[in-house]
Amino acid sequence: MAVAQWVKTLTFYEILVGMKATITVLIQRIILRNRKAITLQYPHEKRELPGTYRGMIALLRYDDGTDKCVGCDLCESACPSRVITVISSEVEGEPMKRYAKEYYMDMTRCLFCGLCVQACPVDALAMTTEYEWAKYNKRDLRLNKEQLLALGDRNFPVREKKLEFQHPNVAYFNIGHKNLPPKES
Ligand code: SF4
Ligand code: SF4
Repeated sequence: MAVAQWVKTLTFYEILVGMKATITVLIQRIILRNRKAITLQYPHEKRELPGTYRGMIALLRYDDGTDKCVGCDLCESACPSRVITVISSEVEGEPMKRYAKEYYMDMTRCLFCGLCVQACPVDALAMTTEYEWAKYNKRDLRLNKEQLLALGDRNFPVREKKLEFQHPNVAYFNIGHKNLPPKES
């Protein structure tokens, strides 16, 4: 027993067992050259992210460039971290219709839970795959409406048609009832 212990000590047996995986990969990579590297040389190489990745949040527009957001405040109410501030207003001349005059997101507080995206009745919010948002000044992470719309423009270049052109019967969601196309039979 004592001899076996001595052999283990002299051959660094425990260290070799601990480094088994490292030594195996080292031999495969450097000597046999039959194993591909799994590390990426970030930032020159980047991983392909799944479509469900929850990155920076963006505000979206319709295909005619108008905001999707109708200033309903539901995202603000749904947010558990009080990230969102919406200041909404009536569209001039269309008392049935509102819009977000100002819209702010303090991304230093965001949990990326996606509840705001789910709460929005008109799909005006979406999560992008952007994650490189490290800043020296955390105030730079308080994004305004223009910044959030720009995020949406560059991540979702294919935009949806306006709701009134998607559904023939839209007596909901605060949509203005002007110039609607005729209802399909
Ligand atoms: S992802 Fe979650 S925490 Fe972030 S703004 Fe939306 S609801 Fe709030
Ligand atoms: S829930 Fe959607 S429509 Fe309502 S204020 Fe938020 S982003 Fe705008």
